[in-house]
Amino acid sequence: MNKPPEERPASSAKSSAESTDSADGEDSSDSMPSEESLFLGSEKGAETYRTTMEQTTDAILDAFVENADPYSGTSPESLREEFAEMEMIPDSGEGLESALESAEPVLRNSVGVSDRQCLAHLHCPPMISGLAAEAMLSATNQSMDSWDQSPAATHLETRMVEELCDLFGYGDSGDGVFTSGGTQSNFMGLLLARERFAKERFGTNVQRSGLPHRAKAMRILCSEEAHFTAEQAAAHLGLGENAVVTVESNDDREMCPDALDQTLAELDERELLPFALVGTAGTTDFGSIDPLDELAERAEEHDLWFHVDAAYGGALALSDRHRDLLSGIDRADSLSVDFHKLFYQPISCGAFLLRDGSQYEHIARNASYLNPEGASVPNLVAKSAQTTRRFDALKPFLSFRALGRDGFGMLVDETIALAEEVAELLASGSSFELVAEPTINAVVFRYRPTSDMADERLSWLNEAIRESLLREGDAVVARTEVDGVTALKFTLLNPRTTLTDVADILDAIERRGSSLRAVSPEVKR
Ligand SMILES: *Cc1c(COP(=O)(O)O)cnc(C)c1O
Repeated sequence: MNKPPEERPASSAKSSAESTDSADGEDSSDSMPSEESLFLGSEKGAETYRTTMEQTTDAILDAFVENADPYSGTSPESLREEFAEMEMIPDSGEGLESALESAEPVLRNSVGVSDRQCLAHLHCPPMISGLAAEAMLSATNQSMDSWDQSPAATHLETRMVEELCDLFGYGDSGDGVFTSGGTQSNFMGLLLARERFAKERFGTNVQRSGLPHRAKAMRILCSEEAHFTAEQAAAHLGLGENAVVTVESNDDREMCPDALDQTLAELDERELLPFALVGTAGTTDFGSIDPLDELAERAEEHDLWFHVDAAYGGALALSDRHRDLLSGIDRADSLSVDFHKLFYQPISCGAFLLRDGSQYEHIARNASYLNPEGASVPNLVAKSAQTTRRFDALKPFLSFRALGRDGFGMLVDETIALAEEVAELLASGSSFELVAEPTINAVVFRYRPTSDMADERLSWLNEAIRESLLREGDAVVARTEVDGVTALKFTLLNPRTTLTDVADILDAIERRGSSLRAVSPEVKR
């Protein structure tokens, strides 16, 4: 991603060759570009767009140098300094060409998401088809909140949602909408769950009159490994994060149905009111998948809204080999799936899907200027937590068309196979501890050179290794905590990453680990 320091062009606005007619001219009206060249729609605008996009393409491709490190290694302090000197809102403009050059330090110090050794988060290399879609959707700038701002886009998104509902086994009554990602999708699921429960149980329309009296007793169930946005949604929904009750998971980090039964019985005894059950298909740390069929049974039995957070694992639906892991997802009342993770689409891109689209009635809302009552055209605004909304559905559309289900399935399969190989490699090495067998492609492990190393020291050492890898720019690896002890994590999303790439990182970890042990024998915090 980065260039060696000696190759860096001098930063700052002055580096531009073309800025003679701009910036510090006395008569600012002289330096104003013609309005024609600011927008599309004229010949001059088209020409500016073409040259600007070419310049942009060159700048981007320069930043993605093959064999460069996945990060420049620049420290937070240096970045703060670099940008402290940069004017953000200058009095007069310097011209577009020069402005584009000022983005160079941004590109140079970005994390190389397409690098084979960038393996930290659920943060994918974006597919080129998605980048093409991104250019189209931003240039056309359709807004999904009303049909007259996005005629074709509204119908394409609706069709995409229909086929996604098919993909996850929802029938014809399925519905949904594109979202900014799992956070918003999980919120939508729990929002609908709350509205339905309040209406059926207390006759309260929360949208109109706020929470019912007994809201303090309402509970949401999820596993210990569920994403933090379940708690966040509970907070935003006025229930408070204490409304979330976590159910124990097993050694494979999947929710235990027996523990769920026990928790439900306890809540009943305490006269608390569980109304939603969140299952996770692909936990963020381990990729583990809750036993969805068994959870669906409990949800039906206890009349709970069953929401499945498949932000990460939803992509398994494309894999003939691994689809069975999602068995039961078709019984979920709602689900979240993110395309900016294992579907390789640029951020942001997610979807919220609903098994019974009529449930949207709980949040129905009409704005006279967007979707007046009785309107004859579809307006997606009432299905979304957003008003103005991007046409993100175009990204998976172009990518699915280009690659097909089978092509996507193969990519997913390859990354899962790699994770299995990496797990074997870790288990066979003497300096590593595999924390859990991977389910999808997240591998959690520790550098543990001796079996008797104290937890506190182990935590310090693993954190220090991770920081040093990032600082040197060698690899981008994630950290997490398992049972109170720091662990390292690879999220092997990139289908280009090979076992050799990972083995090289493990070597680097061992080298750093042994020198860090030597220089700091005492426990540090
Ligand atoms: C990433 C993730 C989320 C959050 O989704 P965003 O797209 O970041 O908003 C929620 N749940 C799970 C399991 C995730 O992996």
